[in-house]
Formats: sequence, C-alpha cells, structure tokens
Amino acid sequence: MLRRSVLTVAELAPVRWLFEKHGMKFGVDRFIAGESLPEALAQVKRLNERGLLATLDLLGENVSDARQAEQTAAAIAELFPVIERHGLRANVSVKLTQLGLKTDPRLCLKLMERIASEAAACRNFVRIDMEDSSVTQATVDLFRQLRSGFGPERIGLVLQSYLFRSEQDVREIGTQGTNLRIVKGAYREPPDVAYRRKREVDAAYVRLVRAHLEQGGYAAVATHDPRMIGSVLELTERLAVPRHRFEFQMLYGIAVDLQRSLADAGYAVRVYTPFGRHWYPYFTRRIAERPANFWFVAKHLFRS
Ligand code: FAD
Repeated sequence: MLRRSVLTVAELAPVRWLFEKHGMKFGVDRFIAGESLPEALAQVKRLNERGLLATLDLLGENVSDARQAEQTAAAIAELFPVIERHGLRANVSVKLTQLGLKTDPRLCLKLMERIASEAAACRNFVRIDMEDSSVTQATVDLFRQLRSGFGPERIGLVLQSYLFRSEQDVREIGTQGTNLRIVKGAYREPPDVAYRRKREVDAAYVRLVRAHLEQGGYAAVATHDPRMIGSVLELTERLAVPRHRFEFQMLYGIAVDLQRSLADAGYAVRVYTPFGRHWYPYFTRRIAERPANFWFVAKHLFRS
C-alpha cells in the first residue's frame, strides 16, 4: 500500500522537480554513492577494504534518444578498464531501458554487445537488471542472445520472485551454470502478473533460489530480509552447495550491519553501488520499500 502510494506521488512533476533541485540535501546520498564516477570509485574502494565486493550501476532508465543511449553505453563500457586500472573487486549492472530497449531493441542489443565485449576483454562480468513487467520478455530474450555469444561467466540476469512467470523462467534460462540474481521485485505490478502478499513473494523467493541451485546455477541472493537469508543458508547447508556457488547481495546504504556480519562469517557479499545524476527513480523505489525511509527523507525535507 505504502509502496504504491509513494511511487504514485513520486511521479508527480512538482515532486520530482523539488527533489532533483535539492537532491543530496534530502538524504539521497544515503542510497547513492555519488553523482560522479570518482565519488563512486572511492566508495567501492572503501567497500573492498572492508572485505565487500561491489557492483557499479550507472543510474538511468527509460532512455528513448539513440544518441543518449550510445553515450550511456560508452560510459558503462568504460567502467571495466577503470575497475581494472584501480584494482577494484567490482562488476557492473545495466538496465536495458537506459540503452533504448523500449524504442529500438536492435540498437539496445548492439550496445549491450559492446558492453559485454568490454567486460570479456577485462575478464569481468555484466548483469542485466530486471525492470517492470512490460519489458520482462524482451529482457529475457536479449539476455539469451548475449549469453550464447559471451557465455554465463560474462553475463547474468535478474529474476523477480513477485512475478508468476519467474519459476518457469528459472527452469528455462537458469541452466548451464547461469548466474542469476534473485530479488523480490521493486516495481508496481498489476495483480494478473505478480503476487501481492509478502508471504507469497517470500515463499516464491525461496523456491526460486532452491530451483536455481538444484539445477547447478550460480545464485546471487539479493535481499536484506534476514528470514530469506536464514532460509537460504539452511538450504545451502542441506543441499551441500559450496560457497563458491552463491553470494549475497545488498544495496548501498541498506542493512550495512548485515552485510558486514555475513562477510565476517566468510560469505561473499556484494554491494550494489549506484551512482550518477539520474538517481530519482532508483531513489523513489528505495523510499517506497520501507516506511522508515519515508520519514528519514521527510525529516531532511523539514530541516532544509
Ligand atoms: P523486504 O521484505 O522488502 O525487506 C526486508 C527487510 O529488509 C525490511 O524489513 C528492512 O529491514 C530491509 N529493507 C528492505 N528494503 C529496504 C530499504 N529500501 N531501506 C531500508 N531497509 C530495507 N529489484 C528489481 O525489481 N530489479 C532488480 O534488478 C533489482 N536489483 C536488486 C539488486 C540488489 C543487490 C538488491 C539487494 C535488490 C535489488 N532489487 C531489484 C530490489 C528488490 O527487488 C527489493 O525491492 C528490495 O531488495 C527489497 O526487498 P528485500 O528482499 O530486502 O525484502
């Protein structure tokens, strides 16, 4: 309920204008590693020093201008040599709509091939984030094409447990050692495609992780929910899944103590580290996920 209301209000033009004008003053920097690449690199270095891995995400989505999509792709491809030069333990995530998926899927494929080639040249990895359900099929199709060209060690995908279709997807595309990030899902979805109740989303989450591990895939268990993490730990123990076949992932600025305690216990933990000027949609999804974040931002608003 809160999620739907926050996302609806966030789409109002004056609200967006207010936030984009005052940006970091409203506590945005709790969730975003900075607006520039040097700021993000400094945060990744800090995470690495604490024994945490990272995923860099140049923020942006729903780009319809071809030139802008090309520039974004060039900036994303450039991240791989930068990561290598700085000796960072980080890979990269991409949203296909920031490369024009909705308006020109062929251009999007070409740009993704460029990005994946750079990832391969630097022996790194790129993951395709999953966006709202209007682009799920196109995202899965494009992922399949790229995986057959570059292999599962260079390219991965995200599946969302709130979508009814994900159990079928995990069986169809989770084979051959594929690297899948499993999340609950962050968008506003209609009831004919997605579970609404937390209980159902959580149950589907554990089923997806289990199915993926059982068929030999690599699982990126992306959640801050201690109950999900507990269930996955119990599952990996029961199925005798070695630690090199899964990792935990959490978002920058969220559940930081949990990130540390899992890393201290010897598990691979990767922090999704978003940066860039186009932070507004990502930021509003984080606010919508948790009432406490709404009050955190409101406090900053009233102070300024
Ligand atoms: P929830 O049941 O939502 O939360 C469990 C507990 O975690 C809460 O009680 C709270 O303590 C904590 N928590 C959760 N969210 C927050 C928050 N915003 N602020 C503070 N505490 C919080 N979604 C997609 O749709 N596509 C993607 O590609 C995608 N990539 C992701 C990558 C990573 C690494 C992660 C961690 C999440 C990603 N998500 C993505 C978001 C995901 O779908 C969920 O919306 C988000 O992770 C919240 O769900 P949860 O699993 O933490 O569980």
